[in-house]
Amino acid sequence: MNYSADIPVRGTYDVVVVGAGPAGIGAAVTSARLGRKTLLVEKYGYPGGVGTYGCCTIFFRFGEHGRQLVSGLAEEVIRRMDARGAASLTINDGCGMPEFRRIGDRPLLGKVITKTEDLRVVYHDILSESGVEKLFYSHLCGVIRDGRRVRGIVVDSLEGPGIIESKVFVDASGDAHLVHRAGGRTEQAAADETMHKSVFFMVSGVTPHDPQVNIKRYQELFKAGAVPDKFWNHLGYSYQLDPGIVQLAFAYANGDACSSADMTRMDHELRDRNFEAVEFMKREMVGYEHCFPVNSAQQVCVRSSRHICGVTKLTEELLAKDELPPAPLMYIVRSYGSHSTDQKKGFAPAKRGTLGGFSAIPYGALIPVEFDNVLASGRCISVDECVMDTIRMMTTCMVTGQAAGIAASIAIAGDLSEMTEVPYGDLRQGLLNMHCILD
Ligand SMILES: Cc1cc2nc3c(=O)[nH]c(=O)nc-3n(C[C@H](O)[C@H](O)[C@H](O)COP(=O)(O)OP(=O)(O)OC[C@H]3O[C@@H](n4cnc5c(N)ncnc54)[C@H](O)[C@@H]3O)c2cc1C
Repeated sequence: MNYSADIPVRGTYDVVVVGAGPAGIGAAVTSARLGRKTLLVEKYGYPGGVGTYGCCTIFFRFGEHGRQLVSGLAEEVIRRMDARGAASLTINDGCGMPEFRRIGDRPLLGKVITKTEDLRVVYHDILSESGVEKLFYSHLCGVIRDGRRVRGIVVDSLEGPGIIESKVFVDASGDAHLVHRAGGRTEQAAADETMHKSVFFMVSGVTPHDPQVNIKRYQELFKAGAVPDKFWNHLGYSYQLDPGIVQLAFAYANGDACSSADMTRMDHELRDRNFEAVEFMKREMVGYEHCFPVNSAQQVCVRSSRHICGVTKLTEELLAKDELPPAPLMYIVRSYGSHSTDQKKGFAPAKRGTLGGFSAIPYGALIPVEFDNVLASGRCISVDECVMDTIRMMTTCMVTGQAAGIAASIAIAGDLSEMTEVPYGDLRQGLLNMHCILD
């Protein structure tokens, strides 16, 4: 696409990151902390991505099998959230309603529940304190490409369109928008071969009850075909830190996450279905008799969509190997598959498995094949669809973001012309310096 000379150049940076989800925050904070002039572009007005616009408040996969896998910026976020009373471990010791515990100096080995509104502010604070320039309410709408390099991006801000130039660009848009618009190769599974889409929401007014009673009742109703169509085969709920508020998450839709028309259709369907869910809960579940909806995801939330084609692709075969992939950035569990598109056939698709032990995300999965100065991070890196579940959690996405920020910084410092030239030893040391776990 050609852009008119009338569009003004709004700024020139060392590193421009598109998308302020966990991956983009990881990339931008890390790059800025390493002294690079960094801009973070986001279409919403606040940071956090799916986590904060989608009512997805739980940080999963800090650890697995009793071993901590993720630290770095993700742990820093949780420690700050804990200090303001907005993060907690959940413990359900048979008491019915779960018990929430401040984290204190306990290690992060499992899941942590956070308060969404606090998370937005903590992310904002960390970005500002790190020296990241934030350009929110601004939509990436075009890319200026010069052979194997991206020279600039076109951003539609409240002031109007502007061009932003940079030495390195990080695509943390979740849907590989930057690489796609630059004409780079991407991959996307068919709508019925990828994970379903959701609009999570919160209800308030829930009274103390035994969740096991509801789980059992839901299973009976599901078996009897007495739950509404397109409801999961298990009751999806998660207690929030504020009493009486529960996140409900068991309506699903299938469609193309990169089609505005399909996303609009799913938005309508899912919001309708959520009202059905409220009525269902009031009618059938103990403790929910007087519940009412209070908050919902800002848009249809997408687990997996378009991915870059990377120099290395994390495949099922690579995951199954006993040795680690080349240039590992972080450890991941060797499980794959989740969130079938047809929930009536079961929560897990046929291609689900757990191999035990650990694998790792290779640096090459962040490097799009056609570009010398672009990296991807987060859920749009180069992976097989069925291994998405190992890489898509907020914790994991934040680490791949940090890796992108470090690699960009090394490339700039060394005047390297290609992201593939970044010495792995330096990248690894950079991750260790940022308290990431690679031992
Ligand atoms: C329903 C649902 C529930 C989930 N629950 C959990 C959970 O409980 N715990 C967990 O760890 N993970 C959960 N996940 C997964 C996790 O939230 C995501 O995989 C993770 O947020 C991905 O991070 P990301 O930074 O790669 O992308 P995203 O979070 O998708 O962030 C991408 C950002 O880019 C912005 N963007 C996109 N296009 C543009 C553009 N053109 N211009 C400007 N900005 C743009 C978006 O607005 C967004 O802020 C859930 C996912 C879904 C769909």
